[in-house]
Amino acid sequence: MAKEEAKIATNEEVAAAADVILRAKYPIALTGAGMSVESGIPPFRGPGELWTKYGEPPMNQFQRFMENPRKAWEERINRQNDELFKPLKVAEPNPGHHAFAELEAMGVLKFVITQNVDDLHRQAGQKALAEIHGNWKLMRCLDCVARFSAEEISLKVLPPVCPKCGGMVKADTVSFGEPIPTDVLMQCQTHSSRSDLVIVAGTSATVYPAAGFALEVKQRGGVLVEVNLYESEITGYCNISLRGGSANVLPRLTKAISERRRATLS
Ligand SMILES: [Zn+2]
Repeated sequence: MAKEEAKIATNEEVAAAADVILRAKYPIALTGAGMSVESGIPPFRGPGELWTKYGEPPMNQFQRFMENPRKAWEERINRQNDELFKPLKVAEPNPGHHAFAELEAMGVLKFVITQNVDDLHRQAGQKALAEIHGNWKLMRCLDCVARFSAEEISLKVLPPVCPKCGGMVKADTVSFGEPIPTDVLMQCQTHSSRSDLVIVAGTSATVYPAAGFALEVKQRGGVLVEVNLYESEITGYCNISLRGGSANVLPRLTKAISERRRATLS
């Protein structure tokens, strides 16, 4: 069956959503793979997609890392030039990423929880950000959870050693079977517990624990605003659904919010 025809949110729908967001005290966002796809990063699952082509990582990926970290590191280094990493290396933030950074700079958006590992929210200038599945450019100490850039860590000894505490260093990207780093989880909990509105963009919000943060806000009487090309599992929970890609809808939403604020301030 053909996929439903993609509808794009009208200006009136975007304006109504802007009003709701401006009434909220603590809007946050939850973002996922759809935003990466709009920056040219293919999704992992589905026909012809990365994991289908290259094989899905084993569900016990983290356990295997812990059993033989040296081997896991050697495999990772050998894969750096794989097609898997190519789209990440060339990807740039799209207008959706920039719109969220602008909303934050305006003082409207308080926090972003992303499931994406692509670094694009940071590159767009997002400051208050939790990368719940890690960041592909960073490494993390499994003991003290300090993050490091590639330049800060020597790969002469594998597994690499944390310059701060001597602990074992792993890629920051959260492996299958690996617990979400505690500092990231706590940040997400802190901000979602304060939130009364979540903009869910480019994700069907079915992956836990990320989805849980949005649903928890909803259960407390908060508002969910969905920005997605198609209906998804979370649509039924959303108060407002704006159809369209993030790169299309989020800049329009940000513009509408900005215009309304200026009108009230003047
Ligand atoms: Zn450390």
